[in-house]
Formats: sequence, structure tokens, C-alpha cells
Amino acid sequence: ARKFFIGGNWKCNGTTEEVKKIVATLNEAQVPPHDVVEVVVSPPFVFLPLVKSLLRPDFHVAAQNCWVKKGGAYTGEVSAEMLVNLGIPWVILGHSERRLILNESNEFVGDKVAYALAQGLKVIACVGETLEQRESGSTVNVVAAQTKAIAERVSNWANVVLAYEPVWAIGTGKVATPAQAQEVHSELRKWLHANTSSEVAATTRIIYGGSVNGANCKELAVQPDVDGFLVGGASLKPEFIDIIKSAQ
Ligand code: 13P
Repeated sequence: ARKFFIGGNWKCNGTTEEVKKIVATLNEAQVPPHDVVEVVVSPPFVFLPLVKSLLRPDFHVAAQNCWVKKGGAYTGEVSAEMLVNLGIPWVILGHSERRLILNESNEFVGDKVAYALAQGLKVIACVGETLEQRESGSTVNVVAAQTKAIAERVSNWANVVLAYEPVWAIGTGKVATPAQAQEVHSELRKWLHANTSSEVAATTRIIYGGSVNGANCKELAVQPDVDGFLVGGASLKPEFIDIIKSAQ
């Protein structure tokens, strides 16, 4: 069985005071045990050490990005080695906001995933189609191409969680229906089966992201190929705890 995974992507939000409040709420929460659900929150880089130091030990932290190779003369970047040095176990890579706003290509994201894994980080790798791509019927091709660029560079998937985040559902309040999410998750698992191994396909967690909230999480969580969530806006609010509790 695949352990349920709940990620909270705080994106570019928060002040020191707000971050402390969110962490205090998480620390008080009664949630299913760690063998039932893995919880990872992802604050902006500058708050990572603070959150790591305050956060309950059964929850973990993720960076929202890292550089594609060893550090050096790359102004403004943060390397995978630095995250490892700070004891940050996870990193989110290939988020659509970086693919679309910062023009990260499938190949660049694939290179980042491979490099981060090689440094010992665990990776939440994001894929997902735009509304235009969905409406033109290319959803499966798009997410397959994004996944292929990772699979060509990565052989050990043990430390990878795949996040399906349809761009049209992110921050829009337009959540995918349970059937829409299940369909793409199932296609991704089939793709992994055909292109990696049956073991990778059976064990890799595929989580859904895009307007997940305390009210819609339950019916998504029961879909057979939905292994958790990557939550944006709602991860900054107390309802994140309700989402954690939807773990199957
Ligand atoms: P929202 O939950 O705010 O739609 O964001 C989803 C997301 O992008 C998580 O990475």
C-alpha cells in the first residue's frame, strides 16, 4: 500500500509572525499517525530553518525549488547541497508556476529532479496541463512528456512523489472532479508501468493538487490512484488539518 502524502505548498507567502502561527496550529493538531499519512510543508526558502526548528518532528519540510546542479556563480539560486546541509529532506520541483512563469522546460525540470535525488533529497515532482491543452485533448500527452523527461534521467523512483496539478485548477477554486483526477492519475500510473517498471508504477505516490480544500478532499481521497494532495491556498489555513485527516 502507498502511504498517503499531504504536502502544503505555501508558495511566496508569509511573514515570520504568520509562519509561527501556522506552525503552532499544525503542532497542536490531532492527525492520523505517521504510518498512515506523511505530512510535508513547504515554506519559502527564508523561513525553512525557522519552520524546521519549530515544527513537530512527525511533520517534515520541503523547499519549493533548487538549482539544477552544483552551486557556484548562480546569483539568486539555492543549491540542493545547501538544502541537504540544512537538513531539509524534501524539495518541490517543476511546479507549473515555475514552468510557465519562469519558463522551466521539461528537460530542465528532469535535470533538476535527477540532480536533487543524487544529492539525497526527496522530490515532489509536479506535472499538469493548461486549460488550452485539456480542451484540445492533449492532457495525457502533456503529462506523459513531462514525466518522460524525468524518467529518462531517473532510475530509482523510491524518493519521488509525482504531483498531478492541472494548471486550470490551481488557485482558481475550480477543483478537478474526482473522476477527472482519477483518470489522469490512472494514466500516469499506466505510463509508469509501461516505461519504468511494474514496481515503480505500483509504489510511486501520485498526489493531486489544484484548489483542494477541507470540503472537497474526501471524495478525491477515496479515488484508487489518488495517494494524497499538494495543497496551496488551503495549506495556510487551519482547514489544512481537515485535509490531513482525509488520509486513506
Ligand atoms: P491551490 O491549492 O491554491 O489551488 O494551489 C495548488 C498548488 O499549486 C499546490 O502546489
